[in-house]
Amino acid sequence: MTIAYIGLGSNMNSPVKQIKSAITSIEEIISTKIIGMSSLYKSKPVGPQNQDDYINAVIKIETKLVPYQLLECLHDIEEKHGRIRKEHWGPRILDLDILIFGNEIMVDEKLTIPHPEIENRSFVLAPLIEIDPDCIIPKKGLASDLLATIGKDNIVQIQ
Ligand code: ATP
Ligand code: CA
Ligand code: CA
Repeated sequence: MTIAYIGLGSNMNSPVKQIKSAITSIEEIISTKIIGMSSLYKSKPVGPQNQDDYINAVIKIETKLVPYQLLECLHDIEEKHGRIRKEHWGPRILDLDILIFGNEIMVDEKLTIPHPEIENRSFVLAPLIEIDPDCIIPKKGLASDLLATIGKDNIVQIQ
């Protein structure tokens, strides 16, 4: 059993609905249980600014899957929600990223764990800390220290 954290994001087709429906789908992943959930947050887009604001959340799971299996399940859920891969960081119906997977540290063409951008994203760090105030990110350190460095002025907790 491994504890992992998944980041959810959406800025198309009723983002709040997409995030809630994605959580239901994650609940149905084989050998996986949701054990923590953040509020929803609103954030400005990363990259191209000519797109709508994002809704973000983080969930904590317990899973028997290995990281590649989990990634495949997450990609299936993105697809089921109608995600089409176009420009990098462009608008999307649903984005599901593996943020942390136990103590795993890995970098290859399919997976980087922990997620390479965590320390630069308040919309990831704030919900993570909401679930686990003392969360330590392998290789990167205490999540609350990282959030203090970048600040959280650019996000709003919505529900
Ligand atoms: P970012 O990684 O900056 O959040 P993104 O989520 O928009 O960007 P995507 O287009 O959704 O990027 O994903 C591109 C590829 O990234 C995926 O097909 C996947 O193989 C790879 N990837 C690498 N590390 C991870 C991870 N930790 N979680 C999810 N996907 C990852
Ligand atoms: Ca992402
Ligand atoms: Ca992604």
